Amino acid sequence: MANTKHQIVIVGAGSGGIMVAANALRKRKNLDIAIIDPADFHYYQPAWTLVSADVYDYEKTKRPMEKYIPKGAKWIKDKVAELDPDNNQVKLASGDTVSYDYLVMSPGLQNRPDLVEGLAETLGKNNVCSVYTDPLYAKEVLMNFKSGNGLFTFPDTPLKCPGAPQKVAYLVSDRLNKKSILNHGAKVIYAFPGGICFGVEPFKTRLYEINEERGIVLKHAYSLVKIDGPNKKAYYKQTKTENADGGPITMNDPNNEIKETETEDGLKVIDCEVCHLAPPQRAFEWVQKSKLAHQDGPDKGWMKVDQFTMQNPDYSNVFGVGDTIAVPTARTGAAIRKQAPVVVDNILALIDGKPITSHHYNGYSSCPLVTGKGRMLLAEFGYGGKRMSDPLLSKFVDTSREKWTMWLLKKYGLPFIYWNKMLKGKMMD
Ligand SMILES: Cc1cc2nc3c(=O)[nH]c(=O)nc-3n(C[C@H](O)[C@H](O)[C@H](O)COP(=O)(O)OP(=O)(O)OC[C@H]3O[C@@H](n4cnc5c(N)ncnc54)[C@H](O)[C@@H]3O)c2cc1C
Repeated sequence: MANTKHQIVIVGAGSGGIMVAANALRKRKNLDIAIIDPADFHYYQPAWTLVSADVYDYEKTKRPMEKYIPKGAKWIKDKVAELDPDNNQVKLASGDTVSYDYLVMSPGLQNRPDLVEGLAETLGKNNVCSVYTDPLYAKEVLMNFKSGNGLFTFPDTPLKCPGAPQKVAYLVSDRLNKKSILNHGAKVIYAFPGGICFGVEPFKTRLYEINEERGIVLKHAYSLVKIDGPNKKAYYKQTKTENADGGPITMNDPNNEIKETETEDGLKVIDCEVCHLAPPQRAFEWVQKSKLAHQDGPDKGWMKVDQFTMQNPDYSNVFGVGDTIAVPTARTGAAIRKQAPVVVDNILALIDGKPITSHHYNGYSSCPLVTGKGRMLLAEFGYGGKRMSDPLLSKFVDTSREKWTMWLLKKYGLPFIYWNKMLKGKMMD
């Protein structure tokens, strides 16, 4: 069993890991960086919603990992099995260990269908699908949906790209409306555990208008607890009966369009011809068990970092980015674009024997809300749900309007910027 040592060790070569490595090497060429990741391919996950609507080729979201490991970084093609921050080392599945001066955690998160009764058995079959786990099966199911209830569900755990379950529902309702199929008995239902479907204005108002225009039936405060794929039934617990403002939830299917039954123990049962969902999501077990994770509270299991500096409060040589960390903003690639340079600048300062920098992450994240084929809004926000605008993007477009140009940005502009700029450590600061 070998032990190797590197100045900076990065766990995970997804969006976060590659952006940190590439940005660091652009700023200082002679760094000794190792990236640990077992995967053969790097995926551009933001296009998976478009794949489900048959407007993006899945194969274009997938590229060989070796092409994106930055020159000058060493790729260790193995899996981290255990973290040992007291001894500045990580243990690999092969039994090898890797020591570090600085550690950057970016392994992403895990889909956990096993946390909803019946879901692990039926996901990927029986018209139960998810762009999070299999965008091609989601395409097959959703493009063939023509009648009956189409149920779209948001989980009751944190998730990456929280806008995606909604975007998939909009793409389907747009196709159905265009083909006038709604008149033939197809219904789109969007069920979610929260009291509102989106938290940031003016996007929230526009999304409620779209739901109304399209006849999308909303089910606020609905938390999925069980799914019976073969019998096409989804079981929900109603999590609350009041809106955020304390008033009763009046918007849940006011016209009684969806026939619902109730079990003896009060679960609401919805029949569904197709079901698209985001499965519950969690940090990996080995992250949850480690001393780097929150041990209790609402962020239990997610990696602990200071929300501004991205530094772990207990181990000053450990930083985190991306989906595995607990910071109060949406988990997206757009967020990582702003987190990665903060991590890099802070590690470089520590290497130089200086205190960490005043370059702070402000919670920036964004959600390209595709509302139909050819239409998109770009919700950008920071900590506290405060609306923000990226200075670079807002030079070209007004992101609060649904526009064809915004759609072009989603379909062509953002993938180009991702592969050719962000993964090269550019266009980030
Ligand atoms: C359907 C969907 C739509 C999305 N839409 C958008 C969008 O429109 N805009 C946006 O900005 N973001 C979007 N995102 C979110 C974005 O893709 C993620 O936030 C981002 O990829 C997270 O980066 P990450 O580095 O944390 O994790 P990932 O990119 O998932 O990478 C994690 C890496 O860690 C590796 N790894 C896992 N386990 C181990 C281990 N044990 N040891 C070593 N390596 C390991 C994996 O192989 C992987 O390469 C979307 C995501 C999905 C799924």
